Formats: sequence, structure tokens, C-alpha cells
Amino acid sequence: MQYISTRGGMQPQPFSETLLEGLAPDGGLAVPERMPHVDSETLERWRALTYPQLAAEVLGLFATDIPREDLARMTADAYAAFPDAVVPLHSIGDGITLVGLSEGPTLAFKDMAMQFLGQVLEYVLEKNDGVLNILGATSGDTGSAAEHALRGKDRVSIFMLSPQGRMSTFQRAQMYSLDDANVHNIAVEGVFDDCQNLVKHLAGDIDFKRAQRLGAVNSINLARITAQVVYYFWAWLRITDAVEPEYRTGFEVSFTVPSGNFGNILSGFFAKQMGVPIRRLVLAANENNVLDEFFRTGIYRPRSAADTHATSSPSMDISKASNLERFIHTLVDRDPARVAAAWAELDENGFFDFSAEQPRFESEFGIVSGTSTHADRVAAIRSVYETSGEVIDPHTADGVHVARSFVEPDVPMLVLETAKPQKFAETITEAIGIDLEYSDDLRRMLDAPQHVVEMPDDEAALRAYIETHAQH
Ligand SMILES: *Cc1c(COP(=O)(O)O)cnc(C)c1O
Repeated sequence: MQYISTRGGMQPQPFSETLLEGLAPDGGLAVPERMPHVDSETLERWRALTYPQLAAEVLGLFATDIPREDLARMTADAYAAFPDAVVPLHSIGDGITLVGLSEGPTLAFKDMAMQFLGQVLEYVLEKNDGVLNILGATSGDTGSAAEHALRGKDRVSIFMLSPQGRMSTFQRAQMYSLDDANVHNIAVEGVFDDCQNLVKHLAGDIDFKRAQRLGAVNSINLARITAQVVYYFWAWLRITDAVEPEYRTGFEVSFTVPSGNFGNILSGFFAKQMGVPIRRLVLAANENNVLDEFFRTGIYRPRSAADTHATSSPSMDISKASNLERFIHTLVDRDPARVAAAWAELDENGFFDFSAEQPRFESEFGIVSGTSTHADRVAAIRSVYETSGEVIDPHTADGVHVARSFVEPDVPMLVLETAKPQKFAETITEAIGIDLEYSDDLRRMLDAPQHVVEMPDDEAALRAYIETHAQH
């Protein structure tokens, strides 16, 4: 299997070549040359597999340049970091089942992909006798998932910028309590956009980037997208375990996905194209609903930083959604010229318009969408708690709120649980008036000494720090 750019300007590459970047030299994103397909007999054969075994099968369709036994060892190691069931499902009533994606070390779904990415990066660097320095900016969940996946690994270091004083106590502790020599926490005097601009400047300096062996593990990373495809297969298999065998083939389920950068739901879109019987993919946005607007109208108009609100589901606070380009590529029948034209239009006018194609979003691809507000998510946390005793986090609550208007009789609605409520305790207290219990491990983490370097919003200072501390 080879990978091409959505804009057509990249020599086809194998999976392991796409790992470090995701962004093609022509500004497009890497996509598989054709989508692999899984027939219903194969799906049935996979019913008996454990999660890591299933992950090796699904990822094996994408990473055809990595021997299957190596993949199986990596998925086993990746998901060994999950203490209990890797992806548990449980019903909360009213036709809705939660798919637990937050059992990993940082209590959010980004661990699902990042733990695999950590394994495969180390593997590829070992093979090529290379080293890599990951540079990133985070407002919370991505940085901690990346650090926990890469901590202590050979040949790779991580430099993660975060906005000083802008993360929650919990998020700070999750990152800054790590004392591994290859993890560098850098708290920048500024907001998230300042951190991201510093990263952009350094990564845009080709000579510096090459000399310092810089790479990224952001949400356009193709290995992350493919690792997330697995849990759509898993959830379908577990739901249909309860269906009589003769009715399993083609048994449709719907998924609701709390969305930000369109990474998670894109993985669901891949799974649907690969043959998982998915009826609808419901995109749930918060107040930053640029994607809900696109799926309802066909017009995509990214917001300015000033128009991007800080909400109580902060990991969905986006102004634009980079991964949308991979959906558009399919929408225009994989015509790279039309993709490039859409992004040229965006650069020129601040929006692009696919309103003529909008009816196909649902009829052909099954994608629908909705928006949830602070009041909606608080109400969803409360009602789920009252009816099922389950405490859900604010992002999952956005999903439950939007899912409710798309539940259909006899079609299970699976809502992806993207974080644990402990990460967002204040909103939980506001919704249901209880203080959540922390496990002993979490207490220890919250009380641990913190390791962070404070830095002004200054490119020269950051360059000097990386030159001194990077692996060469
Ligand atoms: C990252 C994140 C999201 C959004 O996922 P995308 O792949 O960016 O759409 C939703 N919820 C939580 C808790 C997250 O960390």
C-alpha cells in the first residue's frame, strides 16, 4: 500500500515514510492510494481477536511495509499500557452505548493512537539508525498523550510547548510530573496560538529542522488516523456479539463523535469505507462549530483566533479542522486539482463552498452533525448521571447531547467517550454537585514534583534550548 498527497504533488510513499509528518511537500495530506476493503467473512473471523490482535490486522492493511509479526508485537506493547479492558462498551439507556476510549495513561482517547505511534516511531528509527526530536504545542490533551507515549523511548526526544498558566491543574500535572530525560516541558509566556506560532516558525526553517532532526506528531499524522480506525471495528464486533449470528452480516450501527480537528471522525469514515456497516457518523461540535456549519451548509469558513471561544469542552475548541481535507479528497472523487482549488479559494476568500454537494454528505457518506452548548453539556452530564449513575466528561456529554437527536429505532447509537471526567472535575461539580474521587495513582501524580522550563515568547531562546538538548 502506497500513500499519495490529496493535492497530487508527492511521489507515492510507503506507510513508514509518512509517519513523521503527514503533511505532503505540496501542502496536502497523505492518504492511502486506495482504501483497503474488509469483507464480511474476514470481519467474522476477527470476532475472536483481542484488541491488540485486531489492531495488528487492521493496521496491517495500511502498514504493508512492516512485517505482521512486528506489528503484532507493537500493538501488544502499545495496549499493555491500558490496565483493564482496552475499549469497554456500556449502555447508558435510550438506545445509546458509550465506547470507552479513555482507559490509557492520560485518560483521553488520544492515547489510543499515540501509544501505537510511540512504538512504531521507535521501531522505524531503530531500523534506519536515526534519531528524532518531536516539537509540538499543546493546550492540554495532545501534549500529555504524546509525552506518555514517548517517555523513556530510545532515539526520540519530545519538546512540548504549553501556554503558561493556561492549562488545568490536572493537565499540568500530567505533563510536568514526568521526569524522563527525553521529555522537555516548556511553558511559554503567552497563549496557545503563541506556542503554535513558535513551532510553525521553527518547523518552517528547513535548515534548522533538518539539523535538529525535528518532527511532529500532530492530528494530521496518518499513523494516528489509522490506529483510530481500529476501535470502530472493535465496537461493531462487540455490539453484534449480542445479535443472532444469522443477522450479523451488514447489521448497521451509528456512531457519534465529539469532534475538533476532524481526526477521530475521519477514522470512522475510513472504517465505513473499509466495510464496517456504519449507518451514520454524527459529528458533535461545541460552540466552536465551524464543522457543524460545513456539514449543514457545505460552506467551510475557518474562524479567527478572536472568534474561537474557550469552552468547558476545551479539547474541541478549534478554529479550523486540518483533517477535513482528507474528506474533501473523497468528496471530489480523489481529484487533486479540485482539492488544491478549494484550498486556493480558502486562502483567497476565507471560505470555500461545496453547497452543491451538501446533500451527498448524508446520502452517500452518512455524515450528519450538530452543536452542543455549555448548558447542553451540563444538562447531559446531569441526565446521564440521574438515569444510569454514570459520570461522563464534558466532551462525551457534547456527544450524548447531539446523539440524542439522531437515535433511530433498532439502530444502536454508539457515542465515543473521549475523556474521563476526572480530567474536567470543575464542570462535573457544576453539573451534579459532586467532587470526583481520584485513584491513588492520580493523587500521586497530582502531588509529584513538576519539571518544566519557563521561557519568554522568544524564538531565539527556543532555538538555543533545542540546539542544546536535542538528540543528534
Ligand atoms: C482531541 C479531543 C477531541 C477532538 O478530537 P479530533 O480528533 O480532534 O476531532 C475530543 N475530545 C477530547 C477529549 C479530545 O482530547
